[in-house]
Amino acid sequence: MAKPVIFSLDDDPSVLNSVERDLRARYGQDYRILPINAGQAALAYLKKMKQRNETIALFLVDQRMPEMSGTEFLDEAIKIFPQAKRVLLTAYADTQAAIDSINSVRLDYYLMKPWHPPEERLYPVLDELLEDWQIHVRLPFDGIRIAGTLWSSESHTVKEFLTRHQIPYQWLDIDKDENALRLVESVSDNNIKLPVVFFPNGNHLIQPDLKSLAEKVGLQTKAELPFYDLIVLGSGPAGLAAAVYAGSEGLSTLVIEKRAPGGQAGSSPKIENYLGFPSGISGDDLTRRAVTQAKRFGVELLTAQAAVKVKVQDSYRIVEMEDGSEVSAHAVLVATGAFFQTLKMPGADKLTGVGVYYGAAYTEAMNFRDKHVFVVGGANSAAQGALYLARFASKVSMLVRGPELKSSHYLVEALKAHPKIELMLNTDLIEVFGEETFEHLVAQNTVSNEKMTLKGEALFVFIGVKPQSQMVQGLVALDGKNQILTGPDLPRDEKGRVKGWTLERDPYLMETSVPGIFAAGDVRHGAGHRVASAVGEGAITQMLIKEYLKTL
Ligand SMILES: Cc1cc2nc3c(=O)[nH]c(=O)nc-3n(C[C@H](O)[C@H](O)[C@H](O)COP(=O)(O)OP(=O)(O)OC[C@H]3O[C@@H](n4cnc5c(N)ncnc54)[C@H](O)[C@@H]3O)c2cc1C
Repeated sequence: MAKPVIFSLDDDPSVLNSVERDLRARYGQDYRILPINAGQAALAYLKKMKQRNETIALFLVDQRMPEMSGTEFLDEAIKIFPQAKRVLLTAYADTQAAIDSINSVRLDYYLMKPWHPPEERLYPVLDELLEDWQIHVRLPFDGIRIAGTLWSSESHTVKEFLTRHQIPYQWLDIDKDENALRLVESVSDNNIKLPVVFFPNGNHLIQPDLKSLAEKVGLQTKAELPFYDLIVLGSGPAGLAAAVYAGSEGLSTLVIEKRAPGGQAGSSPKIENYLGFPSGISGDDLTRRAVTQAKRFGVELLTAQAAVKVKVQDSYRIVEMEDGSEVSAHAVLVATGAFFQTLKMPGADKLTGVGVYYGAAYTEAMNFRDKHVFVVGGANSAAQGALYLARFASKVSMLVRGPELKSSHYLVEALKAHPKIELMLNTDLIEVFGEETFEHLVAQNTVSNEKMTLKGEALFVFIGVKPQSQMVQGLVALDGKNQILTGPDLPRDEKGRVKGWTLERDPYLMETSVPGIFAAGDVRHGAGHRVASAVGEGAITQMLIKEYLKTL
């Protein structure tokens, strides 16, 4: 935490030096002593300090200065640092000005020059003021701050990205916090764009894309080498497991991740069926452990970087990334999992991130404390989402299309027993409404056909996922749902040979229709759609890749 500042302003260099010396002798240990000799420059500097989230404990300002008086300076300065204590240094002739400013700038004290000996005339006054300041002030957050509104989808995306990377931040809602609004205005032109991300070094980014944000917070977005043994696409449980095992076996391994590590599992508040964690483990925690483990084995992880195309050139497998760059390897593992199905109904698109959320219960739950929210879906992810939201919301209504929940037994029991959760079975969501944010929805009872309008603050959607196989479409064989076919599931011709396969050996268990391109986890046809099965597939695939590398 940066030290709070004692700020002294005087145009006379000898007085300024002398004040600085006295302040430093007594307070230098706990405070940064900042002497400045001109009012306008000082005001400009204060604005920068505010952007860096520094804090001022006390202003000690000379009244008589040519450019602006001490009172005029304080008048402006306290708009920027309203909690700082204010002390005016005055000559006898300025006593009246000092008295007048007790009201206008809520002056805490005026000191007559000379203030020597400081032990008698300066320190007792300042000690008392600083003590009072320490009791009443909340020291500012010493990390990244995101200023935005709850109703800006870009703010939601940035918050989610940092959360998934487990990078701490402070959320400043400009609709509720006037200081935050001023801070945003201080770095914006007339057209405010949100969110604004403020960094502890005083820099900021306005409405950043994820790649710029990732680079700014020190995440790797570019590969260090042009060539690897293995490139893993996706860092959900399958990709991370493969990476850990590949790294531990000494394969040079690059993982490319479109968003942040963790995949779907990363959005799970509590995974209760993963071996070895009897009281459950959050997706965040599991991801953090896996990423640490992979990095320990020398695996490189790129984030905010999507793979858009996989290409084949002789025995090389080439991955093209969103920014146009390419990286090659002997083998590629597609572990890009699946992503949330979005609502296909009027009103849904424009409310995404501003009241309608996909799998984001974890990031947004706290914003809906004591509010009524909806969850759509009846499987495990919806059940977990509803239980997590119910920790904060006053009521969670769960809209389930079918006559019963499709979640695991332990989740069904927990939902039924929860006093804040309302289960609405046989209920079909038809339309969502809201101008700037979600306001209400219309649903229909599928048995009685009765339609109902339900008001609430947010809608959390868990209506299934779809495989993310776009980067290999047209290259490897897929099933009708765009899941990747592997090993025994690959289509065969009438002679029993895998269609289009040129090698003498059969494809390995998790190998696609193209040698050296493998698939594991939820993107694969026949996957288990569980964290443990994705991890298992990732681990098995790594063994098969090792076999494949021996054939090259
Ligand atoms: C909310 C929720 C709760 C769940 N809870 C449980 C539970 O309690 N227990 C359980 O066993 N299972 C649970 N599941 C299911 C489980 O999380 C998944 O089966 C598992 O995460 C699948 O792992 P995966 O690695 O195959 O894919 P994913 O987890 O989907 O990971 C794929 C990764 O690939 C990335 N990616 C996608 N496209 C690209 C691209 N083009 N370039 C680069 N990267 C890309 C994605 O961003 C993602 O990070 C839950 C799922 C959800 C949604």
